[in-house]
Order: sequence, then C-alpha cells, then structure tokens
Amino acid sequence: MTKTLLPLISAACFMLQGNAHGYGNAGHQAIGTIAQHYLNGTRADREVRMLLKKDEGLDRAATWADRAKLPEKYLNSEMKEFVVNNPEHHSYHYCDIPFQEKAYRDGITGTNKHDIVHTLRTCIEVLQAPEDKSENPMKINKRVALMLVTHLIGDLHQPLHVGCSYVDEKDQFVNPETGAKGLPDAGANHFHIKSRSGSPLHGYWDTQTVKSARDEAGSEEFTAFIMEKNPSKPEWDATGPVTTWPEQWATDTLSLSKTCFEGISPRDRYLVPKDEKHDEHFEWIVTLPDDYAVRSRDVVNTELSKAGYRLAALLKAIWPDKK
Ligand SMILES: [Zn+2]
Repeated sequence: MTKTLLPLISAACFMLQGNAHGYGNAGHQAIGTIAQHYLNGTRADREVRMLLKKDEGLDRAATWADRAKLPEKYLNSEMKEFVVNNPEHHSYHYCDIPFQEKAYRDGITGTNKHDIVHTLRTCIEVLQAPEDKSENPMKINKRVALMLVTHLIGDLHQPLHVGCSYVDEKDQFVNPETGAKGLPDAGANHFHIKSRSGSPLHGYWDTQTVKSARDEAGSEEFTAFIMEKNPSKPEWDATGPVTTWPEQWATDTLSLSKTCFEGISPRDRYLVPKDEKHDEHFEWIVTLPDDYAVRSRDVVNTELSKAGYRLAALLKAIWPDKK
C-alpha cells in the first residue's frame, strides 16, 4: 500500500464499492489478534513468525487477500505474482450456497473449485507440505498460503460469504437445489437497504455489524471484550483431517446465513445494466426488521471470537507442538 493519504482514501473507496470483502479491515484484524492470543508460546506461533515479515503480525496478514484485490498500481510484487497466477482469486473469498441448505456439499449450487472451501483446502495442503515449493494448483508458497488462510477463515465466518438467497420472478426466496428457478443475490450484494442508493446488505454485515460490536465494547479493548463475551466452546472444535475443517465450518456458518434473511422480503426489483465488472442483473430494495441491528451484531460478535479461535486451532493442527 502507498504511504500518502490520498491514494489510501481512494483505495478505501474502491474497496467499499467492490463485491464480497468479508469483515472489512477491522473485523479481519480482530480475528488475527484473537488467533495470536491462542497461539502465544506454541510451535505454530514460531512457524507463523518465520513466514511473516518482522513487523507483520497475523492482524496485518489477515487483510492481505483483500489488499491483493486493489487496482494493480497499489499492489506489491508479491501480490502481483499472486494475481497473475490466480485470475479467479476474487471467488476464493466465498461460496453461494442456498441458505435453506443444511450443509456445504461439494458440487451443489453455489460451490465450485475456486470457492472458499476448495481454496482453504489447497492452502492447508501447501502449509502441510514438507517443502516450501510453489508447485501447487495456486502456485503459492507457504507465506502466501498462510496469509490467505488467515483472511479466508475470517470470511468463512461471515454468514453472507457462505449462504446466499435465490429470488424467483415473484420476488420470493427459493432453493434451486429443489429444482426451483431463482436469481442469486450475490451474497446479498444485490439487496439495498431502504432505497436503491442504500448500503448493500452484504456490506452491512461486513462493516456495520463490526462497528456496532465495537461500539458495544465501548472503552474496553475490542478483542478482549468479544473473547470474554464469547468464550470458546467444545463445539467450536472440528473433527477428522484438518483439510476437512473448512467444509465443517462452512456448514456451521450456513446455519447462521438463514438468520440474515429472517424477516426480509426483497421488493421493487430494478434492472442494473452491464458494466465493466458485472453483467446485466436485477437488484432489490429491502427493509430490515426492528431487531436486526442487535441480532446481527450478536451473531458477528460470536463469529469473530469463533473465527480467531478456529484459525489458531487450524495453525496448531498444521504445526503441532512436539511432545
Ligand atoms: Zn475476503
């Protein structure tokens, strides 16, 4: 990133306009900080430090994958190489499973080989490999794999990065897995709150919910506040081989995606013409129920704590302490 203020502002504006960023910088940094708390003193902590730069913690690493989405002039050589080798990298951050589904299953609507679960699996395999070679489908080394994992575990805990709604021609939610036809809401990027110029519902979950959670923490240190409010639970732990953990966690998050659409009815659809980034598509206006702000804040509060705990658990499973 650049050091002068103006490009920073324009870069931030660009990031706000794009699709599917996950929790914004504040949320991702909090997840990195929480993971660090659980890693302190472990072998995984030492391995992570060897891969990151001297002044780079997991909080900074957690935003690398979003910074790699910026226009080319803002990218360093490491990001440029990643982007050239991974032209599909925007799709690494999410999947679009119908929110009515009970589990992430490979091959169902909204999954593909470049989705968040597949990408995490590849990154975990790169980190587990005995040697640090870039001979893998993404052509990434362990350092980039670590930074992707650190970011994507955060995205995997944003309910609208996993579940998605599909809307039929009568503006009703349908599940394409049952044979019904519906248009995807692009992780609720196509739903605007109150008016056409209102914030997309996706962005609301990325940033407004985190801001509300921070406001609730008041003067208390944010990550300490959410860890105390949402202490780790045995059910947060995954089972089986570590490469299957992202799929298990996607299923867990999918159960929360449903709640994002509770009390919401898309209305007043309008056609958005094709531009350089998107094909022609419909968008809708939505009104949030009265309890939505508190509900979504509490979900995100838990998810940030859970994501930090799970990121640390994953790294400790990849680099277990020697007995
Ligand atoms: Zn992301």
